[in-house]
Amino acid sequence: ETNGPAMKALEVATPKRTKEIIAKYGFSFKKSLGQNFLIDQNILHKIVAAAGLDKTKGALEIGPGIGALTQHLAAEAAKVTAVEIDARLIPILRDVLAQESHVEVVHGDVLKLDLKQLFEEKFADVSKVSVVANLPYYVTTPILMKLLEEKLPLENIVVMIQKEVAERMAAKPGGKEYGSLSVAVQFYCEPQIVCLVPHTVFIPQPNVDSAVIKLALRDKPPVDVPDEAHFFRIVQASFAQRRKTLANNLTALVGKERREELTQLLNGCEIDPVRRGETLSLEEFARISRAFLEAGWRG
Ligand code: SAM
Repeated sequence: ETNGPAMKALEVATPKRTKEIIAKYGFSFKKSLGQNFLIDQNILHKIVAAAGLDKTKGALEIGPGIGALTQHLAAEAAKVTAVEIDARLIPILRDVLAQESHVEVVHGDVLKLDLKQLFEEKFADVSKVSVVANLPYYVTTPILMKLLEEKLPLENIVVMIQKEVAERMAAKPGGKEYGSLSVAVQFYCEPQIVCLVPHTVFIPQPNVDSAVIKLALRDKPPVDVPDEAHFFRIVQASFAQRRKTLANNLTALVGKERREELTQLLNGCEIDPVRRGETLSLEEFARISRAFLEAGWRG
């Protein structure tokens, strides 16, 4: 059943076909929009397979380019909505996807769209929704944080991103990759790096390494956090200056005059005040946040 659309996808995502489309429409890549198009069927296949789509589910694609990944998604999902910022790509996408009545192209900036409304409009009839994309690298973090913070009803997010960013998202406490991005992502999701990807699968080739990461959305956070905004303030402050101790970084939140009380509070949480933020688990950040709130410190 997947043979037909997969064959068509094959047409779009080979280097030859991609170059033909670009020539036919006189398209020129805009580096400022992070335009690096995928030309490798295996990678496209891996990305889509990781999302676990079926004909009851929907997919939101961010930045469809000339539709290579979109066609693979169309073969697997009941409904695909693809948001593309570049007006020059809209007629190309409409042509390439003309046969796919369950695919809709939306012209817009994903960072400015009302995604809750988009979900209500486009995905009312599907059981679950995945975000699947080869993301523009210059806005990876804002896009992912928007998807997570708006608490959209997502099953998972499978995205191609810069390898270093993927490693930071999946990092465990104790290493130099671990930071506020790791905590934020792991608060909402279970991350898993699906595969590392060489430069050669893109036109034009990016000058950074890439990886596909899958973020499976959690039903609820893995730690007990009564006030999410406060928890993230504690996390941000703890990583503010990486070479400083936890106590030094958190002093910035409570004021120097409370330094002694802060030390006691951390000791009460069984967290050594001279540790660095990068060694703390989500559970330890949650413990500090709860202790602050109990002490009446908003931070
Ligand atoms: N999906 C295509 C592929 O894999 O071949 C293209 C991926 S390319 C890395 C990123 C795409 O995102 C480009 O088509 C670019 O124009 C688009 N884009 C960049 N910023 C965007 C934004 N803020 N909102 C929506 N699309 C955006």
